[in-house]
Amino acid sequence: MRVTVLGSGTAVPRPDRFPAGYLVQDAGRNLCIDLGPGVVRRLAQVALDLDDVHAVLLTHYHTDHCADVAALLFGLRNPRYEGRAPLRIVGATGLRALVGHLTAAWPWLAPRGYELELVEIAPGTHDVLGLAVEAIAIEHTAASLGYRVSGSNGAVAAFTGDATWCDALVPLARDADLFVCDSAFPAAAPGPGHMTPAEAGRAASRANARRLVLTHFYPECDGHDLLAEARVEFGGPIVLAKDLMSFELAPGRPPA
Ligand SMILES: [Zn+2]
Ligand SMILES: [Zn+2]
Repeated sequence: MRVTVLGSGTAVPRPDRFPAGYLVQDAGRNLCIDLGPGVVRRLAQVALDLDDVHAVLLTHYHTDHCADVAALLFGLRNPRYEGRAPLRIVGATGLRALVGHLTAAWPWLAPRGYELELVEIAPGTHDVLGLAVEAIAIEHTAASLGYRVSGSNGAVAAFTGDATWCDALVPLARDADLFVCDSAFPAAAPGPGHMTPAEAGRAASRANARRLVLTHFYPECDGHDLLAEARVEFGGPIVLAKDLMSFELAPGRPPA
């Protein structure tokens, strides 16, 4: 299983960090976790054609996590994609309303020549294209989900989406080979609805995660030693996410 960071940034534009997006690839299946504005361009940068996006899992409906659903659906109206495989978009309650409102404003988003499956899920384990995906309720918006994706080789990647510190982080990241965690603000300038590197480290430590990836950096992070802040709480490998960074995951050891 391979995980690629498509966007390690936020709602505040930065030249080198797009808003939230991750790509999970496993045995020919390609899943996006979140699709913030611009992330569809990142897919082109990793040479993934829209034809090959099979599923999108949305953690919540803040615009920096899902605006490119519109860009994706409009892109798929191009005749070249006629007859492609179904596209499944998965999220918490509100997904159908969101896509319905977008399509009311932009009728050109309605699928043509392929099938669009909108799947609203509750917390629990779900089959997404043959992969086991556990959705766990996370404190952020009223309906935010973290995702724990089990690869066909047994490796596990966990994604918080945006998160406030909450007990759910530990089962989300338990023994995960890769734990991709909101680390939006440094300890010196914490922000509501988000975590600090130390909190991310604490969650990784309590969950016995094998590798921690800090992400979703607001500009307030500039000039702060985020690695050092997280290291106070977590002794395992820690990575500061960068756009287009990839991780190959094998179960039971830190990924290369
Ligand atoms: Zn959010
Ligand atoms: Zn966000």
